[in-house]
Formats: sequence, structure tokens, C-alpha cells
Amino acid sequence: MPNLSQRTKSFTDSVIRRMTRISLKYEAVNLSQGFPDFDPPKEILDALAVAAHKGPHQYSITWGAQNFREALAAKQSKLMERAIDPNGEIVVTCGSTEAMMAAMMSVTDPGDKVIVFSPFYENYGADTILSSAEPIYVPLYPPEFKFNINELEAAFAKRPKAIILCNPSNPCGKVFTREELGVIADLAKKYDTFVITDEVYEHIVYEPYKHTYIASLPGMFERTISCSSLSKTYSITGWRLGYIIASKEIIETAKKVHDFLTVGAAAPLQEAAVVGLKFGDEYYKDLLDKYTKKRDIFLSGLDSIGISRTTPQGAYYVMLDISEFGYKSDLEFCEVLAEKVGVGAVPGSSFFKESVNHLIRLHFAKKDETLYEALNRLESMRKKMRK
Ligand code: GLN
Repeated sequence: MPNLSQRTKSFTDSVIRRMTRISLKYEAVNLSQGFPDFDPPKEILDALAVAAHKGPHQYSITWGAQNFREALAAKQSKLMERAIDPNGEIVVTCGSTEAMMAAMMSVTDPGDKVIVFSPFYENYGADTILSSAEPIYVPLYPPEFKFNINELEAAFAKRPKAIILCNPSNPCGKVFTREELGVIADLAKKYDTFVITDEVYEHIVYEPYKHTYIASLPGMFERTISCSSLSKTYSITGWRLGYIIASKEIIETAKKVHDFLTVGAAAPLQEAAVVGLKFGDEYYKDLLDKYTKKRDIFLSGLDSIGISRTTPQGAYYVMLDISEFGYKSDLEFCEVLAEKVGVGAVPGSSFFKESVNHLIRLHFAKKDETLYEALNRLESMRKKMRK
């Protein structure tokens, strides 16, 4: 038999998704892969029931159904402070996972360099490998996960084709300030670099932090490929609805990549989600209130257990410091945690370029009662996890 591709040998399966399977095996409360255990808004479910009977059930236009793009353009134009053309500046994709891969394949050639902040969401590493690009990692320093401007400029000086910007950031919960985004924007212009964003947590930004779209900064729309999704905003991670917003020139190319990768996102699901895209401001306020409450429950629970942790400014992840438990491998720690304590977590090493073994990531996108159950189980952590 011939060898399988070299490209696929250089990465493993997703540790995040693997931890979901491990959690299921041990019936652990799964706080690893970030998805809610509560229902999407009723209006969206009702619209899905209608779509089940009335359709559409065949392919939508490859770059997204007309009514979906129009509703999305209306919503994002307000947020991004710019009139987005539903017919020329949007491609609807199968989740932001596809959006980012299509963005990478639209802008990079094999051997091109791409800046990735570390810690980073694990897909970005695989995305660079799949598109035969070469990552340049730039560290974000805790506790605020700030970058060092000189280090960032040194990375730009290597003439990367693009920088990947996850804002709000998974896993560290950083929300980039307008000033920080201004620095990145200036460097992107100076070194003629694209910015590929992942903004799936754009509506989960805690007071007093604010989300700024880098595409909305002066001169940045032209070079930014804004990727996001409906997964987190409407609690429909399994629907795989994402999108790219960018200039007409970039979208023309992204449309081709997307068309040959997946043809299109699920037509009945796009139809049902339109009602969500048309929700008023109240919906987003309620969503944020709900996540703020969950964040408070979870952080104060962790504090009473007394484990050192990060404080998320946005998104729904917390990183815990497990140094005191004396494990050499954070993966082993997470497996034992799922088995003995009954809580699923993601080893921090899956997010860092640097060798980091003392952090694990938990998420709090769960019903309050699920969070209380997880906290209850975590209380026994010191007793059950000590080596
Ligand atoms: N973004 C989520 C996480 O980091 C999961 C995304 C996924 O598995 N596609 O856990």
C-alpha cells in the first residue's frame, strides 16, 4: 500500500473533541469541548419545524441563501459600522471552522508564513498545516494575555501573508482593546498582511470590556477576512452555520474555495436561523446577562475550591493552574479527572506553542445546575487527584 499523506502525519486528532469522547466514556460532566447543554431560542426551533415541512431541502446558492445573507448583512452592518453588501461581501460556510480554512486557502500559498498568537484555538495549527503554510507563533503573556509589540513586529518583519486573530480569544478569554487592535492594524498595513479573524464569541464580552471588529478600523476592511458563526450566539453549535465577511475581491476567491470544499451550508438550517439573525438588541443583552451569571457562578465556585485561574474578559473558558497536583502530563491529568472526579476538561498544552503542562481549560456554557454539579464534583479534586 502507498503511504498516506505526509501532511496528515504532522497533527493529531483534535484533543478538544477527543476529550468529549473521553467525558462520554466516564459519564463526566463535559466542560471540555465548548458547547451549551441548553436549548437554542424557541423562535429558531419553531422556524426549524416549519422548514422541516416547507423546505428548502435542496442546495441553497453555494455562497448562502439570499434571505440568510440579507439578514446577516443587516445585523453585522450595524455592529461593524459599515454597510455590508449581502450579494458581494458574504460567504455562508459550514461553521467558522470552514470559514477559517477557506480564508487560509484563499490567501496563502504553500510556504507562506502566518502569525498565530499563543495560546491559540487548536484548529489554527491544523489549518496552517492543511494549507501548507508555516506558523510564526507570538506569545500572549498572562494574566492579561498581552502581546509584546517588539515581538509582534519581529514576526511581521518575517513578511507573513496573514495573521490569525481570535477575538474574544479562546482559550484565554482575552478581549483585544481598540488600542491593541490599532497596533495590529498598523503593522498589517505596514507589512502588507491580511488579518483573518475568528470572532465567534463577539456577543459574549463581559462588562466593562467591549468588542471591536478589527475590520471596522480605518483602512482595515480591505485586508480583513472576518470569520464568525451562529454557533455560540444562538446555541446551535451542531448546525454548523458560519460565514466570512470581506471585500468583494477576497469574497470572489473565498466563494470558489468554499464551493469546492463543501458546496454549501445546510439549506433548512439557514432558513430556520434567519429568524435569529433578525432578533433585536434585547436578545444579545439577555445572552450576555445569562453568560455573565454563569461566569459568576463558575468563578466563585472555583474560588471557594481555591484553585488559581484566569479571569475571562470574553468567551466562556477558564484556565486552571494544576501545578500543585504534580502531574507531568496535563493530558493524563484530564483523563484521570474525567474518570475519578467526573469532570471533562481540555489539557492546556493543546493551546500553547510553548511547552505548557500546568494548565487545563474548562468552559461554563452549561445550565446552572450542570455547573453546580461540576463544581460539586471538583470539590473532591484535591483528595482524588493528588499523585
Ligand atoms: N470552540 C469550541 C472549543 O474550543 C469547540 C469547537 C469545535 O469543537 N468545533 O471547545
